Amino acid sequence: MDSTTISVAFSFVVFTLLVLFYVEVYRPTRASYSAWWCLALGSFLAGSVAYFIGSGTSQWWANPTGNGCLVFGTTAVWTATRTLSGKPGRPFVLIGPAVLAVAASFGAHPETDVWAGGTVYLLLMGLLLGVSAIELGRYRSTGARVPRWMIVAAVVCAAFYVFRAAALVLAGERSFLFSTVGGTVCTTLLMMALLVGVSFTMSSLSRQQVADVLRHLAAHDDLTGLLTRTEFSRRVQALLHRYGTDGGSGTLIMADLDRFKAINDEYGHDAGDAVIRAFAKACRECVRHTDLICRYGGEEFVIFLPGADAEGASYVAELVNACLARQALPVSGMPAPTASFGVATTGADAPPLRELLVAADRALYRAKEAGRSTVVVADNA
Ligand code: GH3
Ligand code: MG
Ligand code: MG
Repeated sequence: MDSTTISVAFSFVVFTLLVLFYVEVYRPTRASYSAWWCLALGSFLAGSVAYFIGSGTSQWWANPTGNGCLVFGTTAVWTATRTLSGKPGRPFVLIGPAVLAVAASFGAHPETDVWAGGTVYLLLMGLLLGVSAIELGRYRSTGARVPRWMIVAAVVCAAFYVFRAAALVLAGERSFLFSTVGGTVCTTLLMMALLVGVSFTMSSLSRQQVADVLRHLAAHDDLTGLLTRTEFSRRVQALLHRYGTDGGSGTLIMADLDRFKAINDEYGHDAGDAVIRAFAKACRECVRHTDLICRYGGEEFVIFLPGADAEGASYVAELVNACLARQALPVSGMPAPTASFGVATTGADAPPLRELLVAADRALYRAKEAGRSTVVVADNA
């Protein structure tokens, strides 16, 4: 099979995948993973068309452009795998490798040398496929895992590109190793198999990504990023259930910002929002990563500290107040905000969450009555 036939076949397969994928997966899910995958397929298509044109007198610009498109497409594949774990795509990182590949090709007489800048191009492809494989291996979702064969396939392709780069440098472009084993026909067939295989799993991964995003939105408050009431209840109930069967204990802190309405009235709603965010930040700075913090309502919060007793939790509450006092204020000259806290512990038994909340709320009420900016422990402790 000659390389022209195979590159036409490759373009046709990529074009078909792009159309099918756009209509069947991207349009219904709008998942960022599938958007990046569409961009990658489009770049691969543009790259293979450029190589096709480059077989004549246009070689001097078409080959560097083809290299740039393929490297850009592989960077988009890597970005797609990063978005699975919620990492953002960065424009500089996206175009950097492609610019490098194009510059390396233009800088080495692409008008006479078909493989001008080839080593840089092949190494970049190997590197980008390698980091994509790492991202795929890292992806953890409650609903789905990336199939192992897909990670293995990405590693194999990465290794193949590095092998081609080594063969080009060490054995030369006319060698059997580079022109046949690592030649265009083998590479195109391998890439075709990878693209078809990966597109096959795209649909389920794209739907999984949308589900992950929705699950995260439902579990986190948008103003503070803290847990929502439903998510907090679900997690604490699971812990209390475990304490009920295996033993163990924990303590619940209920917090309420003091005279918060006056802050809103005097400095505006935006300043009030900034104080709520400052309180959330203070909480995050003072608790362990295993503790659960929730925005319970407007300016009310609950924190659950697994394994802590009432004394330890009271200390944490005081720490939060001290940390809140150190936070930057949204309006200069504004008095530092404070909060009051009620503390209730599970003790030897593991009461239902509802009972703990009622006990902590009563204690909080007493803290308000005692003059605010203080901590009161519930009688059941
Ligand atoms: P106390 O010390 O007794 O707790 O007094 P308070 O003024 O803090 O309590 P109150 O319950 O009277 O006021 C709570 C205020 O919180 C009323 C409401 O407008 C405001 N609030 C609730 N949610 C938000 C929010 O998301 N942003 C802002 N800026 N204000 C909010
Ligand atoms: Mg309140
Ligand atoms: Mg209040």
